[in-house]
Amino acid sequence: MKLSLTAAHAALAISLLVGALPPVHAQTAAPATAPAAPESGGPVDPAKIQELVIANHVLTDLNVIDGFGHISMRHPGNPNRYLLSRSVAPALVTADDIMEYDLASNPVDAKGRNSFFERYIHGEIYKARPDVMAVIHTHSLGVIPFGIGGVPLRPVFLLGAFLSPSVPVFDIRKAAGQTNMLVGTPDLGKSLASTLGSRSVALLRGHGSVVVASTVPMAVFRAYYSNVNASLQSQAMALGGKVNYMEPEESQKTLATIENIHGRAWDLWKRAALEKMTAK
Ligand code: MN
Repeated sequence: MKLSLTAAHAALAISLLVGALPPVHAQTAAPATAPAAPESGGPVDPAKIQELVIANHVLTDLNVIDGFGHISMRHPGNPNRYLLSRSVAPALVTADDIMEYDLASNPVDAKGRNSFFERYIHGEIYKARPDVMAVIHTHSLGVIPFGIGGVPLRPVFLLGAFLSPSVPVFDIRKAAGQTNMLVGTPDLGKSLASTLGSRSVALLRGHGSVVVASTVPMAVFRAYYSNVNASLQSQAMALGGKVNYMEPEESQKTLATIENIHGRAWDLWKRAALEKMTAK
């Protein structure tokens, strides 16, 4: 093929080449290093940190999470930061394990502590949902059948009303093909947040769930009753016959009641967890 290079083409090629070169001062700059860690969102009331620590223990005591799973809270003083324990089993979490992240899930000051591989779940949901102040990721056994079968998880009793009208399922294969099933990148976290939309709960196919709320106690309540509702729904279906689900209007009317009474359950769970924690 015959090449035809006009003067204009040549000038364009040269200008692109020159433009592609770094300026002289950049060539003498220090070698590239890792990006600076994000700044802290400021000090956090130790009582709020303690609430997050206790929530880790409550979720373990309630069998919502075991050696895996995690709960975070948005930084109370800076909406662009969140708090999450280092990579450790929730039952072992203490205040010293709580780390701060920006919403891209970069640690503010790791102090040698390892981060959860799936922390992007938290950062990307906080980005997408300004109303969310707490995020839980579980591998709860009770909800998993509803992420792998053809039956949606729906409210069957009053304390599961927040599941209305039904719970969406995030299928990582549809988002990214063949993977190791873990939400280990910002893009996967974003995709999961998109599936969650404005709901309180989403299931992860063959993996678990995410639960969100405007407080840590409410997130714990929803994570626990997601599991309970799933168990009751499974039992009702096993009995055979048509399952009589709560209507969306019933669920809506029930939500305000739950808002008012969920603290009663939290107080009980918290006391039991504290007794166990101090007995260790
Ligand atoms: Mn997981």
